[in-house]
Amino acid sequence: MTTIAFIGLGNMGGPMAANLVAAGHDVRVFDLSDTAMQSLVKLGAKAAKSPFDAAENAQVVISMLPAGQHVAGLYLGDDRAAGLLDTINTDCLVLDCSTIDVDTVRRVQQKAGERGLQFLDAPVSGGVAAAQAGTLTFMCGGEKTGFEQAKSVLSAMGQNIFHAGSHGAGQVAKMCNNMLLAIHMIGTSEALKMGANSGLDPSILSEIMLKSSGRNWSLELYNPYPGVMDSPASRGYQPGFMVDLMTKDLGLAIANAKETNSKVPLGQHAEALYREKQLAGDGKKDFSSILEILEHA
Ligand code: NAD
Repeated sequence: MTTIAFIGLGNMGGPMAANLVAAGHDVRVFDLSDTAMQSLVKLGAKAAKSPFDAAENAQVVISMLPAGQHVAGLYLGDDRAAGLLDTINTDCLVLDCSTIDVDTVRRVQQKAGERGLQFLDAPVSGGVAAAQAGTLTFMCGGEKTGFEQAKSVLSAMGQNIFHAGSHGAGQVAKMCNNMLLAIHMIGTSEALKMGANSGLDPSILSEIMLKSSGRNWSLELYNPYPGVMDSPASRGYQPGFMVDLMTKDLGLAIANAKETNSKVPLGQHAEALYREKQLAGDGKKDFSSILEILEHA
């Protein structure tokens, strides 16, 4: 049994922490939302009063927060308050599973290194369904020793655990993956919408494409057309994975493309379409709601 502090219990962090409790770990949770904390307490986690309270004498700290500024705030603090890295025990392993920019990873890693702490960026893929089922894919960046140490805890939440490379490599793998995800979600939406506009049943069209060369994850497991399967599209596009978060991830990918002189025309187009969806006031909807921007040609 490992003593784990878990910070950030949203759509992903909630079920991830629940799986750690189910695996028999001693889990102390903190979130700004009391409701989110109480759901975990019902499953056997302990509610903490602050991130510092959660992390006191913890062997592992895990964070699952929206974006880089939240992660920097938690670990580095600011002019007014200390960060978690100032206070936790030096033998504590720190795993940030949020999807964030590489620059923040480097700043957090530098501070962790100054105190001799092991820190890994460990973003995930698979969505809420995989978080609930404990079948997430983890893409870790950091030292091999930290990665080996992290594996047993991560395996309670995921099935595929990769060491992508040094610090920040997990985030680069994640932004490559999510840029591709956005592109095939938009492409899948376009194909289904055009088929439906032409009089085809989207369920039958989906079945056909699943047995053809258009098969992909969005079509198979996260169909964006309402009524085809039990996916956010069939629940009024309740997230799931919000448009706001996909737009953030595409922004990270485009920034990385500029930095590395990579040509990503489809990634840029995907970012523009998700920004348009966000500006329409749909940031809190699931990202598969991108199909809605195809309503009117
Ligand atoms: P979410 O908005 O549902 O959850 C974030 C949680 O963090 C909320 O409960 C919020 O109250 C809490 N929080 C924010 N600031 C905090 C702070 N300072 N201290 C404590 N708690 C704080 O987001 P999510 O969908 O769970 O995503 C979390 C991360 O995982 C994001 O970086 C996202 O890009 C990534 N991600 C999401 C999915 C998905 O399908 N939702 C999949 C893969 C990766």
